[in-house]
Amino acid sequence: MEKKQFQAESKRLLEMMINSIYTQKEIFLRELISNASDAIDKIYYKTLTDSQLVFDNDSYYIKITPDNDNRTLTIRDTGVGMTAEELENNLGVIAKSGSLAFKKEHQAQDGHDLIGQFGVGFYSAFMVADEVTVTSRALGSDQAYKWTSTGTEGYTIEPGEKDSVGTEIVLKIKDNTEDENYDEYLDQYRLKALIKKYSDFIRYPIKMDFSGK
Ligand code: ADP
Ligand code: MG
Repeated sequence: MEKKQFQAESKRLLEMMINSIYTQKEIFLRELISNASDAIDKIYYKTLTDSQLVFDNDSYYIKITPDNDNRTLTIRDTGVGMTAEELENNLGVIAKSGSLAFKKEHQAQDGHDLIGQFGVGFYSAFMVADEVTVTSRALGSDQAYKWTSTGTEGYTIEPGEKDSVGTEIVLKIKDNTEDENYDEYLDQYRLKALIKKYSDFIRYPIKMDFSGK
């Protein structure tokens, strides 16, 4: 008898993710930092097998920038980036992990272990943001692509602008409600504390850019 796969009911799964799986909203930052770190690790892996490439430590970092006037929080990394197809496959399909696939492909392990595997962490961003924009330029590509979503209503992908390889994620932080304060995710002291809390296993520098505000 033919065995069929369960179809992930993406929209309901996303609602569940945003509302029930995580008890603390702040963990979105841990998830985005770990994805950024994984993306840099992927470049590191490539340099191990490609003698033409060198891994120059100073060029790889994660940068976090709050902008109070525009109510945005930006997380930028200099990792491998994503092609349009990868944006579609990795961010368009919930519970699909590009990092798990990468791990299976690159069996050689040397302690540099990718964090991602469940393919759900990214969506935790929607706990604090009502719109998420991911602009990414993949290693080896001149063209960037922009993925935009307001959550359960789906997403769009279009060509975008980015000067260098890597990924930039802009969270449009939600307005405060009676029971929930979102301003804290734009506050530099709160962000500093969260970054400290969630950067224990991150091998790359996390820079904070508070110059704007
Ligand atoms: P996981 O990290 O468990 O794989 P996520 O939902 O956090 O799941 O992310 C899904 C996938 O999207 C990742 O596996 C990766 O392929 C891709 N991705 C997410 N963030 C980035 C990023 N900053 N740079 C490159 N790829 C990313
Ligand atoms: Mg992840």
